[in-house]
Amino acid sequence: MKIDLQPIVQKHVYIPRKEQFMALFPGSPAFRWNQVEESLIGMSYENWEQLSNIPKAMRDELGEQMPWLSFKPVQTLRSKNGDTFKAALQMEAGEFESVLMQNKRGSWTICVSSQIGCGMGCSFCATGKMGFKSNLHSDYIIDQYRYWDYFIKHNKELGGRISNVVFMGMGEPLANYPNVKAAINLLLKYTDLGPTRITVSSVGVIPVLNKLLDDPEWPPVRVAISVHSADTDTRREIVQTSYDQFLEDLKKWGIAYAKKLGNRRHHLTFEYVMLNEVNDSVMHANKLAALVRAIGGTVKVNLIPYNATDSVYECSSEKNFEEFMDTLRNHGVEVTRRKNMGGDINAACGQLVRLREKNDDVEVSSQT
Ligand code: SAH
Ligand code: SF4
Repeated sequence: MKIDLQPIVQKHVYIPRKEQFMALFPGSPAFRWNQVEESLIGMSYENWEQLSNIPKAMRDELGEQMPWLSFKPVQTLRSKNGDTFKAALQMEAGEFESVLMQNKRGSWTICVSSQIGCGMGCSFCATGKMGFKSNLHSDYIIDQYRYWDYFIKHNKELGGRISNVVFMGMGEPLANYPNVKAAINLLLKYTDLGPTRITVSSVGVIPVLNKLLDDPEWPPVRVAISVHSADTDTRREIVQTSYDQFLEDLKKWGIAYAKKLGNRRHHLTFEYVMLNEVNDSVMHANKLAALVRAIGGTVKVNLIPYNATDSVYECSSEKNFEEFMDTLRNHGVEVTRRKNMGGDINAACGQLVRLREKNDDVEVSSQT
């Protein structure tokens, strides 16, 4: 008799840090966990020993039983000009990436991942090609902040500090809404980052965008929508999750958002990846301007040069880029062009995919 043996797939279940703590110290008063959490996120400590406001025996137990970081940093790469770093972080469900970028004033923006892979399948995005692997628990999102915070402090020559957090790494943050919301609320509670320093970028998951408008726990952070085309057919071609009514739904949502939160501080950003001869004609610019104007004065457009991935696209020619920008400006639309950072270590927008890098000459460390 032939027995068909199926491989046993072990699905790992992550036990959140708070639950691990409660299991280790059952019955401990609620303020204890709050102290631990505050120290972990807000104090830039480097080990359990430094949590001097909790009893020594507890610290020792934590040191033995609970990992200091929820993931294991396996590789950190630096771009040639030193303004971008990318870390590969390992957890049970696989590896994911997180990026640190220096901004104009010398401080640092971290680009965090909210999922391993992404199920949205945008045709120009390397993460989309991976498919969806796993949601990241808020501990993993918070720990990306903690990891880069130590990294900057350890590498003193870097100077500066984390001034901004953008959810533009791997994954669609609004497809992991509870964990993204929890992580943001913890960052706002325990760090000095204000809500306008945090940006959530979404491909436009309309039901969740509608939900956040009415969610009293959703923090007033900035929202960026990856529009990529205001022409229905073009958007459907490049963004797999788009549909015929999408732009109409987005317009309605944008108007509701502007009414509720829209002001200069809480403007909406429309991200637009520039794909040569695909979405960069004057017709496309006119349609984008019409959408922006229909929503009102709180929308800014950020044009992203397409970064090479394994796709059929190319970045817009300089001529198309300029013409597109000029057309938007002539319509009175506020438009900026995103600086391309970290291309040499595949850390730029849309290039995050967990493959071990071959260019090990720029590896800076294999752990913190
Ligand atoms: N899933 C979210 C956030 C992660 S992607 C979203 O799509 O918005 C972050 C940004 O990188 C998005 O604006 C996305 O469209 C853009 N992006 C994806 N692939 C890209 C590529 N190859 N070149 C440039 N930008 C890209
Ligand atoms: Fe997912 Fe954003 Fe990439 Fe689209 S662009 S596949 S939504 S990560």
